[in-house]
Amino acid sequence: MTVKNHRTAREKQGINLLKEKIRQKENEILFLKSSWSWKITAPLRKTRDLSRILFRKQKPAEMRVSGIMTKNNKGWVRASATVNSLAAQARDFALWFEIPEKYSSHINKSGNAFATALLIPAMVLKEDLTIEEKISKTLYQNLVQAQKLMLSWPETDVWHFKLHRTKIKCQGFEKEEKTSGEVGSFFSGGVDSFYNLLKIKNLKTLIFVWGFDIPLKNKKIFNNTLAPIKEIAKQSNKKLIVVKTNLRNLYAGQNCGYLNWDMAHGAALASIAHLLSSRFRAVYIPSSGVPQKYPDGVQKDLDPLWSKSNLKIDSFGTALKRKTKLAAIKDNALAQKYLRVCFENTDDQYNCSKCEKCLRTMLQLKALKSLDKFKVFKRLNPKLVDKINPSSLIFSSWEDIIRELDNSSENIAIKKKIKAMLKRRRLATNDRLARKPLWQKIKGIVWNRKLVS
Ligand SMILES: [Zn+2]
Repeated sequence: MTVKNHRTAREKQGINLLKEKIRQKENEILFLKSSWSWKITAPLRKTRDLSRILFRKQKPAEMRVSGIMTKNNKGWVRASATVNSLAAQARDFALWFEIPEKYSSHINKSGNAFATALLIPAMVLKEDLTIEEKISKTLYQNLVQAQKLMLSWPETDVWHFKLHRTKIKCQGFEKEEKTSGEVGSFFSGGVDSFYNLLKIKNLKTLIFVWGFDIPLKNKKIFNNTLAPIKEIAKQSNKKLIVVKTNLRNLYAGQNCGYLNWDMAHGAALASIAHLLSSRFRAVYIPSSGVPQKYPDGVQKDLDPLWSKSNLKIDSFGTALKRKTKLAAIKDNALAQKYLRVCFENTDDQYNCSKCEKCLRTMLQLKALKSLDKFKVFKRLNPKLVDKINPSSLIFSSWEDIIRELDNSSENIAIKKKIKAMLKRRRLATNDRLARKPLWQKIKGIVWNRKLVS
């Protein structure tokens, strides 16, 4: 479980030599300090300060999760824990998940959900992760593998943190639990969610999360979204579990070193699957169809590594492009009426029809000659393509749109706009890469070329 920090005899010799040199410098400082030439000792003082930084006894930083408990509260049951991190602003952060009280018997009370949710933050903050509770042995083994995989990924504009190998400590391993053996899928109303709804065999339950793409403070958008999702579940004959959580608040801002949501959203969803693991044998994450080997929070190789022995967690339809998924759902009446792709929700709208994701979906539907059937969008305004800034992860989807649109005069004008936008974005991405050290630059360019050329 622990990794010993070995130093070879040669390294030790090198460190001793350095220490000796610094001691000599410090003696010189003491000598000069007593003389008239105090001012010229400034650079030497800096050397001494550096030596303190290099050789001070470092306490291993730790993210500690304690007080894991469940409590009933006004029709909801709350699973919570206190998160303490030495490296960041997360001190005594009360992390919680809530589900309706009627599902309380489906909550797994071990530390699995918290270990899954906090692994990536701990790796970003260069801390060990201590869970004051038992966790699943297979999950523990999988988290070690997940770290290996993530550490092997190159830096991109999405995966932009240098991660640290984190030791996971817990209070032993949980006993295998009995589950009710259901199959579930996360559902936000988007293209991937609808694809899962229509294509996963034996799917019984949809899980809708408040606190991820809809902020907890935005009750209006939550209610506007919950009503259609209830309707979709009802008409598709599926059960719906609503989960509330403040996990994304912990990830945000200084708490976790400005952790990018794109990096952690798969782990965040998987943590909720673990919270409800007494109900499910399999829970699927709607995959966003990113290129197969691209580092991302939801990624083909990473997703199954959030599983444990009696709970399979995986993404569904990973190899499929968004166009294929749209083609599969375009004739579904519920999708036409309720498809929800917008995360910007300008003016509290269900789909703003202005943001990158709205525009991309609208143009893909236009290429499939189905945009008119989707009344959830406003009229398409192609001029808005000039204003969007997709990440390199999305470039290939926009290139697909150029290929998919036919050659009507209206579409030729749209294609020109997309080409100009991609050119601008590629220059910006390469410019950012140019400011990185050489080895990262080479890695990044190789990876980006694979994707965008
Ligand atoms: Zn939008």
